[in-house]
Amino acid sequence: MESLRLRGIGVSPGIAMGEALLSRRVVFTSRKEIIPDERVPDELERLRRALDRTREDLARIRNGLREKIGPDGSLIFEAHLLILDDSSLLAGLEEVVREDKARAEWALSKANARYEKLFESLTDDYFRQRKSDVSDVLKRVYKNLETNRDREKEPQKQHVLVAHELLPSEAALRLSKALTLGVALDMGGQTSHTAILARSLGIPAVLGLRDITRQVGEGDFVIVDGTDGEVIVNPLPAVRREFQAKKEKYEHYGRELRKTAKLKSETLDRVRFVPQANIELPEEVEQALSMGAEGVGLFRSEFIYLRRESLPSEEDHFEIYGRLAREAHPRPVTIRTLDIGGEKSLPQLNIEKEPNPALGLRAVRFSLRNRDLFRIQLRAILRASTGRNVRILVPMVTEVDEILEVKDIFEDVKRELRRKGEAFDENIPLGIMIEVPAAAALADIMLTETDFVSIGTNDLIQYYLAVDRSNEFVTYLYKPFHPAVVRLIKSVIEAARRAGKDVIVCGEMAADTTSAVVLLGFGLRTFSMNPIFIPRVKKALRSIECRTAEKIAAEILKLRSAREIEEYVTEEILLRHPQVYLTGHVLEVKPGN
Ligand code: PEP
Ligand code: MG
Repeated sequence: MESLRLRGIGVSPGIAMGEALLSRRVVFTSRKEIIPDERVPDELERLRRALDRTREDLARIRNGLREKIGPDGSLIFEAHLLILDDSSLLAGLEEVVREDKARAEWALSKANARYEKLFESLTDDYFRQRKSDVSDVLKRVYKNLETNRDREKEPQKQHVLVAHELLPSEAALRLSKALTLGVALDMGGQTSHTAILARSLGIPAVLGLRDITRQVGEGDFVIVDGTDGEVIVNPLPAVRREFQAKKEKYEHYGRELRKTAKLKSETLDRVRFVPQANIELPEEVEQALSMGAEGVGLFRSEFIYLRRESLPSEEDHFEIYGRLAREAHPRPVTIRTLDIGGEKSLPQLNIEKEPNPALGLRAVRFSLRNRDLFRIQLRAILRASTGRNVRILVPMVTEVDEILEVKDIFEDVKRELRRKGEAFDENIPLGIMIEVPAAAALADIMLTETDFVSIGTNDLIQYYLAVDRSNEFVTYLYKPFHPAVVRLIKSVIEAARRAGKDVIVCGEMAADTTSAVVLLGFGLRTFSMNPIFIPRVKKALRSIECRTAEKIAAEILKLRSAREIEEYVTEEILLRHPQVYLTGHVLEVKPGN
């Protein structure tokens, strides 16, 4: 067995070792393979068998979901079964095999193309969105044409998941702390939501490997080094031992660093700072607190939707927010309203694919267009605020009018609750994310309409530099230290401080020790990040004087490139407070996190 090393982007630190489980992607063929006349009946039989297997698969998934989350959860698969049994679909497939004398793969590809075209031409949004369902069903049939039956099954044992790409909704369903040891994908970048979820679950992950799905076979032994962004396929025994030692070292450092959780969050010259946690799941609170989080700076509520098949009710929301608020109490919990769109689609609503999703109906734009959903969420957050530690955060605001609209709805929801005699925190703070460059440029004015701001550097950098945050081909341009980016961030922090309002950085930039020092120097005091990075950042900021950070931050404004800035900051830190970096290399992930 050939041993192989592949480089990618380490997005979730740690080392995983185990057998590869390949999640295969279906690519419809563009080749019309002709068969002799006498093979036609066999081919029709092959197609029918694949349809039967698909029916069995769908019924099994539906029944499983019904048991796990109730009848609502299985609706999508109920619909898929109906599509599969559509008589015109079946007749169309058989006709192509019979008339064109072509293989069933060709018939399915042709049907897929025809339905795509048909659905795209429809004017009714709802029906247009059914396209992805039909395509899903056809893909299942396509896979089931394989006779060797090594079809994808629900994984039962621990594995390293290898796939071309993993959409956030798939990641939310497929990644399991118990079974997924590591993740290795062809696609994806540092700040993609799949990366964020892998980090939250503590699953080592390397993305952007380009063609790992072609280099790895099912059951191959794979090492995923999420710290250094490397994947080793079928390692030699010596290499395996080397990584086993690295794994143990990593876990040891992790335990050591966690001890900082009990120490005070203040710099050498006694300036207080506040590390907080970005989380996606309520069950993460406890772990976040044990890592030293002084509250939840960002709860990404969209994962409530992404983890289930049906729309959550007000009670579902309330239960989750209530649990968050209780578990973190008296520390603050910042709940971000639905940030859907972009790469995070909502399976329950079959949101229409947009030509430019990152610039489309995302986040607050979506909430303002779907007010019923928005009101349900606001009501639940308000009801969970009785402990007075809940704050609301609105994502992707671009202009002041959006805040005014949100506030109108918010006030109306509050009136409704008062009428019903429901208790909530009358002074619940409402903040906005600064992640669209226009909002950053207008921060002083935005701040007149909001109680606090949270800078989402992941998107802010993406939009300011015009670099897709999850596209590995342009990762080299995604630079938190781009001089334009640091100036913009500085101006927002200063505007908030002038206005006497709270400012948080909740993008991944807050988790990087070098940039955290710069942010501290700009005047930032609240750093919200994936909990696994809190010990590292806390240790770093405890090892520096705020005065030094301020001097460094002032100097970099004169520099011309990200490289110059990064070099300057790193050298200054090494010269004055080298302990900042003495956190053990093994806990770092590559720059850009
Ligand atoms: C951000 O954009 O920086 C952010 C924190 O939000 P998300 O990563 O969920 O888009
Ligand atoms: Mg964002």
